[in-house]
Amino acid sequence: MEIDNKRRHSEDEPKQEAAKKVKSQEPKYAYLETVVREKLDFDSEKICCITLSPLNVYCCLVCGRFYQGRHEKSPAFIHSINENHHVFLNLTTLKFYILPQNIQILHDDKVQLLNGIKYALYPTYRVKDLQNFPRQCFDLSNRVYLNGFIGFTNTAVYDYAHSVLLIISHMIPLRDHFLLNDFDDQDEFIKRLSICIKKIWSPKLFKHYLSVDDFVTYLKVKEGLSLSVVNPRFLLLWLLNKICSSSKQLKSILNQYCKGKVRIIGNKRETEGSGTVTSKVNVKPFWVLTLDLPEFSPFKDGNTVDNLPQVNITQLLTKFTNVRTSSVDTVFEIVQLPQFLIFHFNRFDRSSEHPVKNRNQTIVEFSSELEVLHAKYRLKANVVHMVIKSSSTDSNDSNRNEKSHWVTQLYNDKIKKWIEIDGINTTEKEAELLFLNETFIQVWEKQE
Ligand SMILES: [Zn+2]
Repeated sequence: MEIDNKRRHSEDEPKQEAAKKVKSQEPKYAYLETVVREKLDFDSEKICCITLSPLNVYCCLVCGRFYQGRHEKSPAFIHSINENHHVFLNLTTLKFYILPQNIQILHDDKVQLLNGIKYALYPTYRVKDLQNFPRQCFDLSNRVYLNGFIGFTNTAVYDYAHSVLLIISHMIPLRDHFLLNDFDDQDEFIKRLSICIKKIWSPKLFKHYLSVDDFVTYLKVKEGLSLSVVNPRFLLLWLLNKICSSSKQLKSILNQYCKGKVRIIGNKRETEGSGTVTSKVNVKPFWVLTLDLPEFSPFKDGNTVDNLPQVNITQLLTKFTNVRTSSVDTVFEIVQLPQFLIFHFNRFDRSSEHPVKNRNQTIVEFSSELEVLHAKYRLKANVVHMVIKSSSTDSNDSNRNEKSHWVTQLYNDKIKKWIEIDGINTTEKEAELLFLNETFIQVWEKQE
C-alpha cells in the first residue's frame, strides 16, 4: 500500500477534525487514524513482549507494545488480528507496515505523522539546527520544555546516571559530534549512547522527559559496568574511558577538549647523611581533578544544618596551583589545562560503614567565574548531592537508610540562566543559590 502524501493532514489540526477530513477524502489513511502517539515509548527495552527476543521487533503504533516478526503466526501478526491493531514500525529498519496484510507503507517520509514517530525513535540533526539550541519546545500535551535541559523518570534508581548523561551532552564539541553523526556501523555502546544524547537534545519529544533505565541496564548487563555503581563520579570516569576505548574519533575529541595533565612530584628527604631531597616526577593525564575538603566531623564542633563549615573553591585549588618547593610531601602541579575542567569534591569515605551518613558536608563557596593559573573559566554544570531519608523498619537505626540523591544544575548560555534538573522537574535557579548545596561534580569551560 502506498500512502499518498498530497492529502496528508497537519499534526497541528485538532485530531478529530483531521481524522474526519482524511477519512472522507482518502480511504488509505483509515489505519493511520488509529495510531496513538501518546502510547509510544521508545526508551524502554526493545524486546518482544511475548518471546522476549530483541530480534526483528516491531512497535504496534496503536497500543505501543513491542512484538516480534510480521510473517504469519508471528506475535505481531497475531496481535494485529486479535486486537484489530494494524500499523507497525520495525524498530531497527524504521520501516512501517500494515499487518496482517504485510504491506510496507512507502514514502513514509512524506507523511508528517510517521516522520514524527521515526524522529521520536531516532532524532537526526543538521548543523543549522544546532545554532539556535537550546530552544523552547512543546511535547504532545503542549507542555513547554527546553531541549537539552530535560528531566528523567525513575530518579530513585538512576539519578546518578541522569547527571552524568546531562554533563556529557552539555560539552558542546562532544555533543555536536554525537548529534551530527550516524553511529549505525559503530559498536552497540556508542550507538546507544549517541541515541541517548540525540534524545536529550530532541526538539520534538513526545513527553518532556526521558527514561535511561534501558541504557543503564544495558551498561550493567552487557558492558561490565559494576552493578554497585550509584555514584556520578565513578560513572563519569567509566563512561569517558569506555568512549575512548570504543571510538578513535571520540577519543581524539575527548583528548582535545577534556584531558588535562598534572605533574606529581614525590619528594623524599634522606633520613641519614646530607639531608638532601630526592624527587620522583610523574606527569599524569586526568579527566577529573579531585579536590579534598577540609576534615569534617559530623557530630563534633557543633555542626548543624545551619552551621556547616564553608570553604572557598580557590582554597581547595591551592593543592594544584601553589607548588610548595620546600615540601617533603607529594606535590601536584597542573601542567595542561583542558577546555572543560571537571572537579570532583571528595565527600565520601569509602571505608566508612555508612558513607552517606558520615559524608563530608562542608559547603564549597564559588562564583560562576574562576581563574586557574591565569586561565579564565566559567561554570557550566554543577552536580549536587542531597539526602533522601527512606523509611526504616528498624526504629533504632533510622539514619541507616539515608540515601544519596543527585540533582543537576546546568547553565543556559543563551539566556544566561541556571536550570536545575531534579527528576522530571526542571526549574530556573538563581546563580547565588547554587553554592548552598553539597556540590559534588563541577564542569568549568575555559573562556576565550
Ligand atoms: Zn497493539
